[in-house]
Amino acid sequence: MVRTRFAPSPTGFLHVGGLRTALYAYLYARKAGGKFILRIEDTDLERYVPGAVELIYRTLRETGLTYDEGPDVGGDYGPYVQSERKNVYLEYAEKLIESGDAYYCFCSKERLAKLHEDGATKYDKHCLSIPLAEAKARVAAGEPYVIRQNIPKEGVSSYTDLVFGEIKVDYNDLEDNILIKSDGYPTYNFANVIDDHLMGITHVIRGTEYLSSTPKYNLLYDALGFERPQYIHLQPIMRDAQHKLSKRHGDANYEDFIAKGFLKDAIVNYIALLGWSPKDNREKLSLAEMEELFGLEGISKSASIFDETKMRWLNSLYVKEMTPESYHAYARPFYEKIDYLKGLDLAYLSTLLQSRTEVFTDIANLTAFIPAFETYDLAAFENQKWKTDTALAAKMLPDLITLTDKNWEGLHDALAAYAEEKGVKKGQVLWIFRIALTGSVVTPGGATEMATLFGKKESLRRLKESLKRVSK
Ligand code: GLU
Repeated sequence: MVRTRFAPSPTGFLHVGGLRTALYAYLYARKAGGKFILRIEDTDLERYVPGAVELIYRTLRETGLTYDEGPDVGGDYGPYVQSERKNVYLEYAEKLIESGDAYYCFCSKERLAKLHEDGATKYDKHCLSIPLAEAKARVAAGEPYVIRQNIPKEGVSSYTDLVFGEIKVDYNDLEDNILIKSDGYPTYNFANVIDDHLMGITHVIRGTEYLSSTPKYNLLYDALGFERPQYIHLQPIMRDAQHKLSKRHGDANYEDFIAKGFLKDAIVNYIALLGWSPKDNREKLSLAEMEELFGLEGISKSASIFDETKMRWLNSLYVKEMTPESYHAYARPFYEKIDYLKGLDLAYLSTLLQSRTEVFTDIANLTAFIPAFETYDLAAFENQKWKTDTALAAKMLPDLITLTDKNWEGLHDALAAYAEEKGVKKGQVLWIFRIALTGSVVTPGGATEMATLFGKKESLRRLKESLKRVSK
């Protein structure tokens, strides 16, 4: 049975790259009818950020990436939090020491710093020469130590990545990394191997930053007599041709996109396309469709560039599909942040904005004309097609005000009848009316829709205000 895992470190927000790894691991398991597991890798105590674990749970739940096993859902292979498995790792590290695949190291910080200063690019295996009995006696006597992996001095290791094919790394390029730190906690380099084995992970899916350290992990699998998993490495997501999207830029977090007014389904959909595409290159895909279509053959060998414009476009497709009720419910918190919308018929506003919304923070721009009315530029009355200008507005507005007051219920027909009576094009009357009402050339709806939005009283106030201004 296929078992994949998402193994985030709780060091902050869940960025786009992390979410994509989770998504692919989820999709791979679902497609194969396997299990998807969440494991929290929290052994780096210094980088731990309070609240980050809850954020991971919440985001996976919200996006629909349900995991079959994990810290908060249980499972037969727990605990699923590395800090709760501390003793497990030490036991395996001691086995590696017995077989000569790891060794105790007592080097001081000063010695390591000196080594570095003298130009060494990696640890010099200094403590490997300490006889094991002596090392054990020093450990028993309470001397601080770490446990290091003993990488062969020579040779080439190779393995097959399911995306990149054969990967060869010279042992000479690898370092005797620390497996167990002086605080007794394992490093990532060690814990990932032990846990992936003990949790029965069959396919390890993670970023290409691990491509060249995987031989170290393979040495550990082999030394412990564990079966190696299959590897699927994913190319980074880039901000542009040169720069990776990074947590540090803060522009790439799931929560930020939600705050900007992206819908979770659109975020998941867009992120899926950053490194994978289905055979028919379809772009709008639900999670259920992706579960059907996902496959390694669609995974890209090159990096993808995050394109927010494209993500906005994709989001707009999801917005258009919402029912008017769900659009309105989703828009409400965004309305609440905008003072000048108070008192307006927001359900009606929603019907005007839905087809024009790419992301929900667009609401601010789409409605900016409302307060801008108070200082609008009278040049807005000038329209070549309809042959309108402020002079014509000054002439027509008294009639339009009376007409609005008397015919509020049948306003559109009344405006059309007025145009006919004056022998002018309807468009001309509507233009003057809409500009006088809104002060804006571009509005999310026509003349009578804008009047409906403002209501009779405010519409009359606006028309009279415009009359005052054009008559000056
Ligand atoms: N904790 C590692 C990280 O967040 C996980 C890498 C892996 O999937 O093995 O990068």
